[in-house]
Order: sequence, then C-alpha cells, then structure tokens
Amino acid sequence: MANNNLTVEEKMAALRSAYAQQLEGKIAEISDHVAAMLGASDEKAIAETVLAVRALIHKLAGSGATFGFKDVSMVAREMEDACNKSIEENKYNSEIGVYLNSRLDDLRKSSVHPDIRMEKPRSHENGDIEQGSIEDRTIRKVIVLEGDKKIQSQIVNELEHFGFLAVGVSHPNDLAEAINKSKPFALISDIVFDGDSESALKLISDMHGAGNLDCPIIIHSEIDDMHHRLGAVRAGAKNYLIKPVDMADMVNVLDLVTSDGDSDPFRVLVIDDDESLSHHTELVLQGAGMTTRALNDPMEVIDALNDFAPELILLDLYMPDCEGHEVAAIIRQQEAFDAIPIVFLSGELDVEKQLSAMELGGDDFLTKPIKPKHLITAVRIRASRFRELRSLMVKDSMTGLYNHTTTKQMIENEIERAKRLNHSIAMAALDIDHFKNVNDTYGHAVGDKVIKSLARLMRQRLRGADIIGRMGGEEFAAILSGATIEEAENVFNQIRQAFSEIVFHTDTKDFSVTLSCGIAEFPAFDSISSLSDAADKALYEAKHGGRNRVILAR
Ligand code: GH3
Ligand code: MG
Ligand code: MG
Repeated sequence: MANNNLTVEEKMAALRSAYAQQLEGKIAEISDHVAAMLGASDEKAIAETVLAVRALIHKLAGSGATFGFKDVSMVAREMEDACNKSIEENKYNSEIGVYLNSRLDDLRKSSVHPDIRMEKPRSHENGDIEQGSIEDRTIRKVIVLEGDKKIQSQIVNELEHFGFLAVGVSHPNDLAEAINKSKPFALISDIVFDGDSESALKLISDMHGAGNLDCPIIIHSEIDDMHHRLGAVRAGAKNYLIKPVDMADMVNVLDLVTSDGDSDPFRVLVIDDDESLSHHTELVLQGAGMTTRALNDPMEVIDALNDFAPELILLDLYMPDCEGHEVAAIIRQQEAFDAIPIVFLSGELDVEKQLSAMELGGDDFLTKPIKPKHLITAVRIRASRFRELRSLMVKDSMTGLYNHTTTKQMIENEIERAKRLNHSIAMAALDIDHFKNVNDTYGHAVGDKVIKSLARLMRQRLRGADIIGRMGGEEFAAILSGATIEEAENVFNQIRQAFSEIVFHTDTKDFSVTLSCGIAEFPAFDSISSLSDAADKALYEAKHGGRNRVILAR
C-alpha cells in the first residue's frame, strides 16, 4: 500500500472521506434502478429491478454507519426491508417503486452529514506501547546485580547463550547508572551486599515505586525465609529463586515473567466483496495489534488459507459470485481448516437466516455496523481460544515446538510455497550427542531440562517465520524459508556453539552437552522425502565424523 507510514487513525480518516465521496455515486446508481422500476411495464421487469436495488441498498445499510453515516444505514435498512417484503410476498406492482422513490431524498440528505460520534479505534487495547519499549524488548537487556564476581560472570555468560544481552553489576550503588544507559528487559538481583540483607531490597523497592525500574524483577538469593520473601514481593519482585539455580530454570522464569501472553499478533482474514468495508474492518483490527488480510474475491479463499494461515475468518454473508455460507462450507471441507473460527459479519438482521448460515459452518454472527470495540473483543476471544486448542494439537507439550506430524505437514507446505515463489529453503536435522548418557548419569528429569534448553535456544536464535519441530526424543528439525544452505550453516554453527557452552548444574556435577546437525537445501533436493533424507544423511555423517558439528548435504 502506498500510504504505509500513515497511522491507523489517519488511514481510517482517509477511508471515511473516500467513502463519503463515493456515496453520491452509489445513491445515484440506486436511483437509476428505482427510475427503471417506476418505468417498468411488467412484473418480471419490476422484480429484476427490486433485486438489483436490494443488493445495492443492503451494502449501504451495512457500510453506512461503519463510516460515520448512521442515518444512511437506518434509511437503507428500511428500504431493504421494503424490498424483502416485496420479494417474500412475490408482489411486484408500482407500490414498491413509489415507496423507494419517496425515500431517495432521505437517503441523499443523510449522506451529507456524517455522524461524527464515531468510535475511535484504539491504537492498542492494553494501553499504548511506545516505540522505545518495543526496541528494548528486542534487545532484551538483562541486568544481573550480583556481588560474587564468579557467579555474576557465569550468569552473564549463560544468559548470552540464550540470546539475552546480559550486563553484570556488582553493587547496588551502580544499579541506577546501568538502568539509565538503556532500559532493562528484566533485573536479576541478589539481596545480600557487604553483609547487609536489607539495603538492596529497599533500593529496588524505592526505584520500582518511583517508576525508575519498570521491568520484571527476579530475586536470586541464598536466603530462604518469609521476611525476605515478603520484602521481595513488596519491592515488586515477580519471582524469588534460591541459589544455586539451574540456568535452564532461570531462563524459563525469565521467559515466563517477561512474556506478555500472546506475543504474536492474531491473524485475521477478512472476506468481503466491499473493498472499503473490508479495509475498514482491517484497520480496526490492525489498530488492536492484529495482522489482517482482506479478500474481496471469495473465489480465492483456498489460496489465502494456505498462504496466510489465518486464526479467524470474518466472512460477509452476501457476495456476488459465491455466498458467505458457501465459502464457509468450502473452508470446512478442508481438513486443515475445519476448526478455524468463522464469524459472519453481515448486515443480515433476520435471525432465521443467521442461524441457517451458522449451520453451514459459521461459529458466530455479528451484524454490521459493529462497534470497533465489540469487533475487536469478539475476534480476540475466538482467535485466542482457537490458538490454544490448536497448540494442544500441533505442539509438543514439553518444548512448545511443533510436533512430528505438524512439522512434516509444514515442511510440505513450505516446499509448495518455495516452488511457487521460486525461493530456496534450508532444512536442518539436529540430534543431541550421547543423550542416553545424560539420562543414565543424571536421570530423566535432567535430560528433559537439556531438551528444553535446546528448544529454547533454537527459538531464540531462529527467526519467527522459521519452523522448528521436535521430531521425537532428542531430535529436532528446522526449516528456514528463503535461506541458502550457507546461511543456515552459519546459524546452526552458532546454535551448536552456544549449546555446547551451556553449563547444566546437578547436585553431583556440572556438565555440558553437544549436538550434531545435518543441513540440506531445496531445490537441490526437491521433495519432502529427498530433502529430509538428505538432511538425515548429513546428520549421520556428522555423528560419524565425531559429533558436535554441522555437515551440509551436497
Ligand atoms: P547419539 O550421539 O548417537 O545421538 O547418541 P544418543 O545417546 O543421543 O542416541 P540414542 O538415540 O541412542 O538415545 C536417545 C535417548 O533419548 C534414548 C531415550 O531414552 C532418550 N529420550 C527420548 N525421549 C526423551 C525425553 O523426552 N526425555 C528424556 N529425558 N530422554 C528421552
Ligand atoms: Mg542423540
Ligand atoms: Mg536420537
């Protein structure tokens, strides 16, 4: 879109003014049909014009109020009712033409003064997020306030393996300076400095209270008593960890306290033949932080589903080539999309018709015009429920990565997409080295921790669009779309290196683990089986070449 740097509000205003300019033409078109209706000589000719008027007036009824023309919607709704009555009763005489004609003036008048009491879309439901804080989130600076230099550098080093920018601070006196340099993503802090277990908590509490320490606080201490735990809670701490803490646990806690629930925006597909209405709906949802795609031709729905993978579909009911309930039925026939929430967004007020549309696969029915706030809430609730359900089906519960079946399916989709778009894909197969030894020596629970750490590390180091799957036990696969094999080699060597540097702590001993990796490239291997086989073979070579290495399939 050309006006990319406009705010949602500005785009919305532009859309409203464009709509206002088109109104006159739309009403003129209706007026032409009404004139034809009045001049028609037989019932059949009248019937045709009534149908034509109803199609146009129905759209106006749905869109008017959305763009600030409440009265347009009201008058259009009454005209639509008259058309419907005439159609239902199969009554096509001059009465309907005379009535519609008498309302055209009301329609024109109502189109001149837009109702300015429009609801403004919110830029973000949970309050505005400033630019700065978004940047700080991506940098992920964690301050480690720790008097013991050895422990401090150990935490700092390991956090960096997990993709955080860790900054060590040795004394509470230096905390303010470290925070002033750039806003931290989180603070991990001990509470005993110079034999004093009160001052540091008090300082943190004061800074937090004054708004100078506006990030999650995690206390990391040797002391485990109610007095200090309470002090920590009062200082604003989200968590209290007893030393020594396994880094994998520390990172898990960091993830937990810093996640803001649904970090990925919901993806919503808006299907409506009316371009300005779909655009308006998109802007409302984008204003609430969602990602949208509009489809004005429902015949393209299958491509859009595969391409965009929506988490909710907003569907208009009446469209020229293919009606909404038919589109819903088609979507439901695709196994991959049979659970996706479909919400009808239509001007249809007849409850019977609403119900019958839902029988064919819709989950809900919202009537136009809908208040932005209601639309956002309805979409958010359904999309987030869908995401939760889907995640149970497609994700591995231990690591949160895609499970075997889903990963395979996604690799297949990626190959199809890469063929269409003519780009490359790198597929990596990873396997933890001598993992059986880890289980045998330290127990299954420690083994699980190692698996989770690798999963997390991969999620940290790969891009959001990359696909990461747990293929079984300690085996993983990753698909990097658009990446060459050399780029992937680079990334996975970094992951391999970082993983080997993570130190796992147990009661008896500290230890580290390595991994081996094989990478193959599409289109050199151009089917799912040849691509995975090639990656597996390269992994096998890596194992036999001595492990802890990345091998490319040639
Ligand atoms: P190699 O370097 O050749 O890959 O040796 P390895 O020991 O890693 O390979 P092997 O496939 O023989 O052992 C994998 C082990 O992973 C065996 C199995 O008990 C263990 N395992 C599988 N799933 C899990 C799991 O979810 N948790 C834990 N802790 N262990 C698992
Ligand atoms: Mg292994
Ligand atoms: Mg294995």
